[in-house]
Amino acid sequence: MHDQIVLRTTFRALALAIVLSVSTISSQAQQAPPPPTAPASTLGPPTRADLLRGQYGRYRANNDLLFYHLDIRVDPEKKSIAGKNTIRFRMLADDTRIQLDLAANLHVDRILLGSTPLKYERDLGTVYVDFPSTLRNGREYTIDFHYSGQPEEQGRFGGMAFRKDAAGNHWITTACEDEGASVWWPNKDQWRDEVERMQISVAIPSTLVDVSNGRFMGKTDLGDGYTRWDWLVQYPINNYNVALNIGRYEHFSDKLGDLPLDFYVLPANMEKAKKQFAQAKPMLEAFRSYFGEYPFEKDGFKLIEVPYAGMEHQSAVAYGNGFVNGYLDRDWTGIGISLKFDFIIVHESGHEWFGNAVSAADVSDMWIHEGWTTYLESLYVEKLFGHDEAIRYVNSYKPKVQNREPIITQRGIHRQPQQDMYFKGTLFLNTLRSVVDDDSVWWALVRDFYQQFKYQNIMTEDVVRFFNARLKRDLTPIFDQYLRRAALPTLQLAFNEAGSMAYKWKAEERAFAMPVRIGRPDNWTTIEPTTDWKVMPMQLSKEQVEVATDLYYITVEKQ
Ligand SMILES: [Zn+2]
Repeated sequence: MHDQIVLRTTFRALALAIVLSVSTISSQAQQAPPPPTAPASTLGPPTRADLLRGQYGRYRANNDLLFYHLDIRVDPEKKSIAGKNTIRFRMLADDTRIQLDLAANLHVDRILLGSTPLKYERDLGTVYVDFPSTLRNGREYTIDFHYSGQPEEQGRFGGMAFRKDAAGNHWITTACEDEGASVWWPNKDQWRDEVERMQISVAIPSTLVDVSNGRFMGKTDLGDGYTRWDWLVQYPINNYNVALNIGRYEHFSDKLGDLPLDFYVLPANMEKAKKQFAQAKPMLEAFRSYFGEYPFEKDGFKLIEVPYAGMEHQSAVAYGNGFVNGYLDRDWTGIGISLKFDFIIVHESGHEWFGNAVSAADVSDMWIHEGWTTYLESLYVEKLFGHDEAIRYVNSYKPKVQNREPIITQRGIHRQPQQDMYFKGTLFLNTLRSVVDDDSVWWALVRDFYQQFKYQNIMTEDVVRFFNARLKRDLTPIFDQYLRRAALPTLQLAFNEAGSMAYKWKAEERAFAMPVRIGRPDNWTTIEPTTDWKVMPMQLSKEQVEVATDLYYITVEKQ
């Protein structure tokens, strides 16, 4: 996903003052190494709904999703939806109840195990389903969850939105990463457990087209003015990625090797789309060269025009960038590079590798989606325009960073982390590349990281463990300082006496130790500061010593 972000300068100045005073207090209190937990949150209290959706409790953990068949009818005139989700799951413990989700404003018509109606209990968006006898550990079960109602349009991208295009035709789309897929269909609405495969059947008036995720299996005229469109998703998929795109779409296609590329746009935009969507190929080729094959080959790759900015719906990327480069025709990073490519094609498709193939298991660790995908933008720039432009691109994100809250938020609360997960996340990864300080090692590392975790849902601990093991170094304090602390590490350089310089890191992580390049840009010296003072000979003056702050995202204090 990508949000449009507006920074307010006064807010940032205030936040900076708060961050500075907090870091002073905590550095005085650093006697023993602190636990790898975030400092106290300044975010507001969670709502009960945040907890119900965010916690992975007994009735979610007792089962593993295997298959969904979402089979629905959408009535554009009534702005309503009706149908069922057939849910197949394997029990991981003996139990008599499971926890599913459906927005409180939608109606549960009935829930069946075979022909047996099941009892259920609703609590806000949660639906607890009760079974008449114990479900056994290891056994598979299938239930049919019938529902109906009028989904409520909500959130930045609409949740489920019933709109009209400029020609007055129905244009109905879904985008619900934050709100949750349960705003329009019943499912186990959390991040940890992705369903393995899914069928999506959508009946709509026969003049319209539905584009959903996965491979198009065919359409069936239902004889009552409606046609059912069938799609098959052949990989694990996050609930929020499941999408309807219903409109008067026209279709054109292409291929990249064996990979089918399918494009769906409104008729008026056909010519513009044919030109702009040519960027899909260099994008796919770039990411493939870094990480390996496009992860959803059997499902194909699709770009679909939508009335909002864009969203990474798996194998069916939503596109609303107006067929122009930059981000909504703006030089998004302000240094002339953004206008060289279509931001939405590159960013949202980058999520196919990070977000959709490698997924976070909790929204708290969403930087695994957004920090990595924003970094992928810079890798695209590097592939097409070279290393120096990529470094410029990464650093152009600095003004968007706030350093107000840690990137990783409290677990078990469904709440999207703040925007630093994008920009500070990518600046952190660029820093990590400099710490590795060997591009051949770095490229192999990020590729293997992706290959190790594709089609899995992971937490930051998995990332750190992998990097530490591969590099045979303990980078944990570096990850913790950037991801679990609000403030940046500060490199303190003290020029007390002629011919020598003292240096150390000021960081909340007591064990923070990170090499950094200082001196002259044409002849950097790599030093290894820790949070204790070290002294080295220094022939350069305080004014002459520079720090490679485009390679390491840090602040510098000279005294
Ligand atoms: Zn994104």
